[in-house]
Amino acid sequence: MQKKLQSKPASAKLFQKGYPLVEMEAVANPGVLKEEGEIFTLTDSKGAFLGTGYYGKQNKGIGWILTFKKGESIDQPFFDKKMMEAADYRSSMLKSEDTTAFRLFNGEGDGIGGLTIDYFEGYCLINWYSKGIYAFKDQVLAALQKAIRPKGIYQKKRFDEKGQYIEEDDFVAGEEAPYPLLVKENGEKFAVYLNEGAMVGVFLDQRDVRKAIRDAYSKDKTVLNMFSYTGAFSVFAALGGASKTVSVDVANRSLPKTIEQFSINGIDHEAQEIIVEDVFKYFKYAAKKEKIYDLVILDPPSFAKSKKHTFSAAKDYKNLLKDTISLTARNGVIVASTNASNVSDEKFKGFIDQAFKESNAKYSILENYKLPKDFRTSPQYKQGNYLKVYFIKVTAK
Ligand code: SAH
Repeated sequence: MQKKLQSKPASAKLFQKGYPLVEMEAVANPGVLKEEGEIFTLTDSKGAFLGTGYYGKQNKGIGWILTFKKGESIDQPFFDKKMMEAADYRSSMLKSEDTTAFRLFNGEGDGIGGLTIDYFEGYCLINWYSKGIYAFKDQVLAALQKAIRPKGIYQKKRFDEKGQYIEEDDFVAGEEAPYPLLVKENGEKFAVYLNEGAMVGVFLDQRDVRKAIRDAYSKDKTVLNMFSYTGAFSVFAALGGASKTVSVDVANRSLPKTIEQFSINGIDHEAQEIIVEDVFKYFKYAAKKEKIYDLVILDPPSFAKSKKHTFSAAKDYKNLLKDTISLTARNGVIVASTNASNVSDEKFKGFIDQAFKESNAKYSILENYKLPKDFRTSPQYKQGNYLKVYFIKVTAK
């Protein structure tokens, strides 16, 4: 017998509209769920069917609805169908020679919350966000094999008690990928490491932003890339003709990784500056030296803790922008990005406005970006549409 989970009356409407995440507060009897991975039927308080889902603990969620169709079973054909649809949706990307790294399956946007799959030059990397979804490993692997026959498959388990990545050998099936694996994005190269911890070397969701920076914002400009990680934005800026790039990141690994990304793209890294330092220290140094940049890219993590500082986008982004405005040239451009799902688009625009007001400066927004098409989202689950990027011109200061 399938477990029967009952929605609280106030939440039933949400599920009727197709909201896929089951949160603890939304159900009357979460205690019936015993083992992650078990399938449940969600009903309203009168027992009418709302959806079928799986039990899996992920942040505030205790599971995801997999189907809103009564009678649809969660079996191998179900997973096959979802995977085929996901591959179809990206069929042109699967054929592209220019871009060989993208998101193949994006969680609830493709109908299965808690699961993402990235594609890298024929290899796939699966992210499991709960023990619950990991219980379907065999079905997901089989579906993936049938849909696209990857050369090799890697995985990241992101579900210890704190939702952290579990460090282990990530190779799962097929043939092992070269180390590093070279992938292409809009004709340029990135080195990725599928078996080297939580992050592989490039964030695929910024593809369109990198292209814009290369094609329209970098020619003959001085570029400062804050929170630069492996320097992906700096590489695209340099390829777009920047007169100089400066990359700042506090992590030691960022230096060799950034050198590598420049080198594989034929850029002399010695003509660029790569600084391993806390950005907040760099702001002070840059102010003292009266440094000014034409283009400043800001892409901080939602939350970060260093020895001296905790940074949270929701609390500190406005001040980060104020520091940035002071070292951006008049008529220069700031690329302000955040992936914080607790900062809405409205709130983010509010930070921008306040930061300029408090700096006695003026601005105009040139364009903005959200997640690229392959990061498909569910219209019912707005939190999944987390990326907000604004290109802001400093018109007066
Ligand atoms: N912009 C990058 C991704 C940034 S990931 C890209 O497009 O690839 C966030 C990065 O911020 C990490 O590399 C982390 O080391 C760095 N970071 C976090 N806190 C920092 C701080 N206070 N100063 C500098 N870098 C920081």
